[in-house]
Amino acid sequence: METRVLEIDPLEDCRAAYREAAALLAEGQLVAIPTETVYGLGADAFNADAVAQVFAVKERPHFDPLICHLPNAAAVHEIADVPEGLRGLVDTLAAEFWPGPMTLVLPRRACVPDIVTSGLPTVACRVTSHEAMRGVAKALGHPVAAPSANRFGHISPTSAAAVLKELGGAIPLVLDAGACSEGLESTILAPCLDDKGNPAVRVLREGPITREKLREVCRVLKPAKKGAQEDAPSAPNAPGQLKSHYAPSKPLTLCSPFGPFTPQPGVRYGLISYKGESKLAQMDCWVEKMSLSPGSGRLAEAAVRLFAVMRAMDECEDVDAIVAEELPTVGLGAAMMDRLTRAAADRNA
Ligand code: AMP
Ligand code: MG
Repeated sequence: METRVLEIDPLEDCRAAYREAAALLAEGQLVAIPTETVYGLGADAFNADAVAQVFAVKERPHFDPLICHLPNAAAVHEIADVPEGLRGLVDTLAAEFWPGPMTLVLPRRACVPDIVTSGLPTVACRVTSHEAMRGVAKALGHPVAAPSANRFGHISPTSAAAVLKELGGAIPLVLDAGACSEGLESTILAPCLDDKGNPAVRVLREGPITREKLREVCRVLKPAKKGAQEDAPSAPNAPGQLKSHYAPSKPLTLCSPFGPFTPQPGVRYGLISYKGESKLAQMDCWVEKMSLSPGSGRLAEAAVRLFAVMRAMDECEDVDAIVAEELPTVGLGAAMMDRLTRAAADRNA
């Protein structure tokens, strides 16, 4: 199959492109569509056969549910049944962070096919700030079920070029709106009642909406320590958040910016540094060095560039193994360290 790339400029009128993408989705085909976080591989969420194709093309296990993209916050109620006690919280979160990089896991309605939710009683809902995904969902008249447009477990694509490397030849169309402005997958939240019956959120996946930002508007449950009592036993967990994910094809190791790092003889190392100025970055064992935010270091810039830099290092012919510098785990650093830790995890463990 030939994959057509249709360039769009969201500052201009793109409705014809959105209609074209929606027409393919309505036929049961798949289209790669940009969001502000990463490119998504979209299917009509109400067409179980089309959604099955998403799993097949991505080689994604069926226990890993998909996110449904909606044209606006009101559409949540078409696929989710928000419990009375959580309505205030959901409204606050929607008003504060939608459209934006936030996904809410809510009790599902029967119209959502089992394959979308991996059979769970909940559905993941998102209203992205990217006009393209919202425009296509509006033109389709159904939610678009879309995971990241990469093969399962690989680095997420933050440009149309990266989508083509992952899925070129397997899908008919990519809408190309250039690089994604956030660069990290959405923050996934489960609104729930805590052990005292008060509304709260559990963070199922760290992302661009940080815990710090969330705490300004609602109660945020602390991550449950292993073996500890959950403070909201009814909250769903996040299936599919596998230990190994976001992985380059080369081995990736995490290392403190202060070292020590002991290179193995004969191995050519590439370093992904935060600012490019650390003790680690000054070692002379690197055949290639890339910085996420050169100079003073800005976490937002690092987040936008993380997956593109991981990809560039993975494609660098001189490099056998990648070393990534640990990042501060505040703000966006927490989401980036989540991705880097999974990228470094042993795939066979
Ligand atoms: P991706 O689309 O690849 O960014 O991944 C979507 C992720 O959303 C999955 O890996 C799950 O962890 C999470 N997710 C989607 N639906 C649900 C759900 N119903 N309950 C809990 N987590 C979900
Ligand atoms: Mg993904």
